Amino acid sequence: MSIVLKTPAELEIIRHACRIQSEILNQVCAAVEPGISTTELDAMAENLCHKRNVIPAFKNYQGFPATICASVNDQVVHGIPSPNKILRNGDIVSIDFGVILENFYADACRTVPVGAITETATKLVERTKESLYHGIAAARAGNTTGDIGHAVEGFVRQFGYSPVRETVGHGIGRKLHEDPEVPNFGKPGTGVELKAGMTICIEPIINLGKAEILTEKDGWTTRTTDGKLSAHFEHQILMTEDEPEILTTWDE
Ligand code: MG
Repeated sequence: MSIVLKTPAELEIIRHACRIQSEILNQVCAAVEPGISTTELDAMAENLCHKRNVIPAFKNYQGFPATICASVNDQVVHGIPSPNKILRNGDIVSIDFGVILENFYADACRTVPVGAITETATKLVERTKESLYHGIAAARAGNTTGDIGHAVEGFVRQFGYSPVRETVGHGIGRKLHEDPEVPNFGKPGTGVELKAGMTICIEPIINLGKAEILTEKDGWTTRTTDGKLSAHFEHQILMTEDEPEILTTWDE
């Protein structure tokens, strides 16, 4: 386990990286509408990265072929954008996106509705977002990663939803995935103790039905085994001695 606490100078770069990441993700999410393909959204994100002088963090990361992960409906995470994946009225799409600025990573994700979505989908999306804020509220110095996971899981279980177990939140800095892991489930007081100066991504990935997922033939895209919807929200935060600072921001 190697947890890297960030210096004030490093945090200035990280804040800047997160600001640019958020502005680009907001623009891409605002472009979501029926008829657009996930490849068009990907191209938009990549162009905006070039304009803002940041490097797309996911492209070529362990061989991932695109700038954004776009996971539609029962796809869970790591959806590869495709010109054949045309978004339709009633879909939900999770757009996960990261940038690198001066060797520091910024990473966040949102699930957005395409046109008018069902009440079931609306509730899943809103409650998954809410579970992220429960996780953030538990992210206090002296608490543990298990406290975050417990807060997320405890909130979503009451609706019969299931946190995905294979993909978890993470520390972030000069690497996209640093220690500690931040699962969306767990027991209070277990896991790794949180300290001021840690930058972590909390990212509830919540299935409407069962927790089980499978990986598609492309080797990246995961989907629910029961074919039900999945939603994903992620913020990058800085641990302080008091309330955490949320580094990424969303237009609501
Ligand atoms: Mg992440």
